[in-house]
Amino acid sequence: MTAIVVYIDQLDAPGKLSTTVGQLLTLARGAGEPVAVVAGPASAALLAELGAYGVARVLHSEQAELGEYLVAPKADLVAQAAAAVSASAVLVDNSPAGKEIAARAGVALNAGVITDAVAVTYDGGTLVAHKSVLAGSYTVQARATSAVAVISVKAHSVEASLAAEAVIPAVEAVEVAFAPASLAARVTKRTPRAASGRPELEDARIIVAGGRGLDGDFTPVEELADVLGAAVGASRAATDAGWISHASQVGQTGKKVSPQLYISVGISGAIQQKAGMQTSKLIVAVNKDAESPIFEIADFGIVGDLFKILPQAVEEIKKRRA
Ligand SMILES: Cc1cc2nc3c(=O)[nH]c(=O)nc-3n(C[C@H](O)[C@H](O)[C@H](O)COP(=O)(O)OP(=O)(O)OC[C@H]3O[C@@H](n4cnc5c(N)ncnc54)[C@H](O)[C@@H]3O)c2cc1C
Repeated sequence: MTAIVVYIDQLDAPGKLSTTVGQLLTLARGAGEPVAVVAGPASAALLAELGAYGVARVLHSEQAELGEYLVAPKADLVAQAAAAVSASAVLVDNSPAGKEIAARAGVALNAGVITDAVAVTYDGGTLVAHKSVLAGSYTVQARATSAVAVISVKAHSVEASLAAEAVIPAVEAVEVAFAPASLAARVTKRTPRAASGRPELEDARIIVAGGRGLDGDFTPVEELADVLGAAVGASRAATDAGWISHASQVGQTGKKVSPQLYISVGISGAIQQKAGMQTSKLIVAVNKDAESPIFEIADFGIVGDLFKILPQAVEEIKKRRA
């Protein structure tokens, strides 16, 4: 069976698998033999989780360079591990780091690289990536013609599911030969971002996003996000105004997300905003202007004042959960 490599970063949160990695492993298992390539330790907890996803082979490296330098050494690990197992495909998450790893590993492997996939299917021996392009105007299917395909996959492109039977993975330590250029820029200091307690935008199953309609006060959006266990996103108008950090921006020049549920609040739905969220599975829009373009792509629309609607929604959700 053909080997499909899934890259897993265990440097920041060892022993924990992100939701996105579970989804990538599920995809890999459906397409071939999933092989986990791990930057960092292969702890017993991690191996048990990987075994539950049906991963029979784990390659890992604990070399210090993987954490002390930027992303390039991780791409060296991925490329060398993929070559060692003769992988036909490499799957990485669609974060900025994931996409950089995809690009660099793609060069090293002479592989076709496909980013921003919203779904991956298997057709006659090759993986087919489905993408939403030109600010969401078209959906295309892309397939690499090279021997190896490197694909970065958006979160929630597939539901994570465990294997019918857990396996005990064989573990192999890899000695990566880092390219000199990979060690050109060293990390000298890290400042952890203050934890909000909310899920990361790219990982979240539910996102509540606010725009200029919030008029500087994101409290209604944050309160709704918190009762739903959701991440908070924003339009560029809101981030440019300094109401919320730029890391929360969704869109063409922000994060590209594909959650199960995207609640758009006080956002008009400009094409650059749609480009980052219109592949969401279910879109609910709250806007006081019935002509707003966001309603063109919304599955459910509520025309009205967000400052009245959101608190009512929060109250109702709390009441039903009590
Ligand atoms: C090159 C380029 C890249 C860009 N990249 C991005 C990007 O990545 N992401 C992004 O979002 N934008 C991006 N933009 C900007 C984009 O074009 C829009 O200007 C922006 O998305 C508008 O944000 P908004 O919908 O919050 O504001 P507006 O367009 O001003 O819409 C505000 C909405 O709030 C509604 N509203 C007001 N008050 C209430 C209320 N009380 N209750 C309910 N509804 C209310 C209004 O009816 C209106 O529809 C980009 C633009 C360019 C040129």
